[in-house]
Amino acid sequence: MNMVDITAAQSAYRDELVESGLLIPTGVDGLYGRSGVFEDVVERFDALVTRWGGQDGAEVMRFPPALNRQYFEESEYLKSFPHLAGTIHSFGGDEKAHRSLLRRLEEGQDWTEDQVATDVVMTPAACYPVYPTIARRGPLPGEGKLIDVFSYCFRHEPSIDPARMQLFRMREYIRIGTPDQVVEFRELWLERGRAMMGSLEVPLDVDVANDPFFGRAGTMLSNSQREQKLKFELLIPITSTEKPTACLSFNYHQDHFGHLWDIHTADGDVAHTACVGFGMERVALALFRHHGFDTAQWPASVRKVLWG
Ligand code: ATP
Ligand code: ZN
Ligand code: MG
Repeated sequence: MNMVDITAAQSAYRDELVESGLLIPTGVDGLYGRSGVFEDVVERFDALVTRWGGQDGAEVMRFPPALNRQYFEESEYLKSFPHLAGTIHSFGGDEKAHRSLLRRLEEGQDWTEDQVATDVVMTPAACYPVYPTIARRGPLPGEGKLIDVFSYCFRHEPSIDPARMQLFRMREYIRIGTPDQVVEFRELWLERGRAMMGSLEVPLDVDVANDPFFGRAGTMLSNSQREQKLKFELLIPITSTEKPTACLSFNYHQDHFGHLWDIHTADGDVAHTACVGFGMERVALALFRHHGFDTAQWPASVRKVLWG
């Protein structure tokens, strides 16, 4: 399939999802409302993740889908992914500027001139608020830390692919500790991820992946990430069999975040980190793709896994 065919397939599948009512269009590519049926699947999958990961004793943290701008600046996200970041701006002018804003609005001109950056930015990945939070607590306990997060995430990647949204939800487990602890966690979840998604009877594949680092220097970073096998994705066909969609990802950051935020192990070494991320909308879309739009008609075995 060439790019034109892939795009046509994505567009056609998005139309089907909208017609079925599962996705509610808003007029912006990648920004959708969801029906009750869709949300039910998301909730059941979230509960399934807890069933597989809940016994490990993770500390639960829930953050709003925005990040302290200072944390965002410290994260070096702007070095790697300036094209994806979403910053929150608000009106900062006086009455004169307000009058000019209203005039420009009325005349259909750009009215955003007096919008200024606030102290918050959109969360790009659910784990970002965790690292500075853990860093503030001081050195890690001997067994390290395991955190459970769930958040809406924003990425400026408008697309007609219904599986590439601008606002989507990510459940994550994050492991922070020694290299051994962190690598063991990622191995465990690579196996669990396969078994868990296998129980939902969808075709899947696990493969090495890379993040879309920006610019020419970014290509080098992407290549090195692949060579070192730092990122794996669990892929399921949604709009294309040849280009399946990443529904889960398994990321080893080595000591990158440990360095940035000065996170230390009990022995005083710089901590390593890893996370496993579950793309809630993508998993739901994969299930609708393979089992149909009517959840009552899904295989009994799959219904049992999700609804008990
Ligand atoms: P892709 O390669 O498809 O862009 P990604 O590498 O950016 O995916 P991660 O950054 O690892 O994905 O994010 C963790 C999970 O969040 C992914 O495995 C995926 O399920 C989900 N996800 C990422 N981007 C999107 C998006 N734009 N819309 C919906 N879900 C997404
Ligand atoms: Zn993460
Ligand atoms: Mg991406």
